Amino acid sequence: MKPPPFEYSAPGSVDDALALLDDEAKVLAGGQSLVPLLNFRLARPGLLVDINGVSELAYLRRAGGALHIGALTRQATLERSRLVQEHWPLLAHAVRMVGHPQIRNRGTVGGSVAHADPTAELPVALSAVDARFHARSRRGARTLAAGELFLGPLTTALAAEELLVEIEVPPQPAGAGSAFVEHARTHGDFAIAGAAAVFAPGSHAAIALLGAGPVPVRATEAERALVGGASAPVAAGLAAALVQDEHRAALTGELVRRAIERARP
Ligand SMILES: Cc1cc2nc3c(=O)[nH]c(=O)nc-3n(C[C@H](O)[C@H](O)[C@H](O)COP(=O)(O)OP(=O)(O)OC[C@H]3O[C@@H](n4cnc5c(N)ncnc54)[C@H](O)[C@@H]3O)c2cc1C
Repeated sequence: MKPPPFEYSAPGSVDDALALLDDEAKVLAGGQSLVPLLNFRLARPGLLVDINGVSELAYLRRAGGALHIGALTRQATLERSRLVQEHWPLLAHAVRMVGHPQIRNRGTVGGSVAHADPTAELPVALSAVDARFHARSRRGARTLAAGELFLGPLTTALAAEELLVEIEVPPQPAGAGSAFVEHARTHGDFAIAGAAAVFAPGSHAAIALLGAGPVPVRATEAERALVGGASAPVAAGLAAALVQDEHRAALTGELVRRAIERARP
C-alpha cells in the first residue's frame, strides 16, 4: 500500500525540528517502523519531520563515566562501538539481536526507544542498565527513567511536540557482568520472550524482561533475592511469576536463569 499524503520537512538542527513538532507532526528517524505504519495507513501524520539531517543528534561518547547516546545514533553504530562493547557489553549484545544488519544500518537507538515495541530489545536492555532518557520541546527539557517513559505497547510519555534527544547510561557497576538472552521463532524475528541481566554477586542485580508485559518489566523481587544470595533458579522462578501466560512464564524462567548464569562475572 502507499502512504497517505503528508507534508515533509527536513530541519538541520534540533531547534528547527522542535519548531515544527505539534499534534499533526511525526518524527521520521530510520523509518524502519514508521514507514511500514504509514504504508499500512496505521499512522496519518500531516507532517513528517525528518531528523536524518540533524547531525548534532548522532553521537556516542563517554563523559563523566556515563555513556551518552544521541537519539539519531544508528543501531549499527552502537553495535560496532568498541567503547560500548568494552564498557556496556549488555547494549552491544542486545542490539545484535535487533532484526537484520540492513535494519540496524538505518534504524536508530532513539527510534527504537520512541517506538516502544514491547518485544524490542533496546528498551529492555536500557531498562536493565538504568538509562535516563532526555527529551526536549520548545517549552524546555526533561529527563525520564524507563519506568516513566514506557507506558504501554507503542506508547511512551513523550508528547507530540517532544523530541527524544539523548539516552544516558550510567557506568556498569564495579565487578558486574551482564547478559541478554531471548527466544525468537527464527533468527532476526521479533522475540517472544527475553531477559537482560546485570549482576555483581552480593552488591547489584538488575533483571529486565522482554515479552512479560506491555512494557519492559523489571523483576525487582528476583533482583533483591539475587543480591541476598539466592540461586539463579530461585531468582528465575520469582521473575517467571510475573508472567501471566503459562508457556511464556516457563520460557521466561529459563531465559532468566541463563541470563543470570551468563552475567555472573
Ligand atoms: C523487518 C524488520 C524487522 C525488525 N526486527 C526488529 C527486532 O527484532 N527487534 C527490534 O527491536 N526492532 C526490530 N525492528 C524495528 C527496528 O529496530 C526500528 O529501527 C525501530 O523500531 C525504529 O527505529 P527507527 O529509527 O527506524 O524509527 P522510525 O521508524 O523512524 O520511527 C519510529 C517511531 O519513533 C518516533 N521517533 C523516532 N525518533 C524519535 C525521536 N528522536 N524523538 C521522538 N520520536 C521519535 C517516530 O515518530 C515513530 O513514531 C524491525 C524492523 C523491520 C522493518
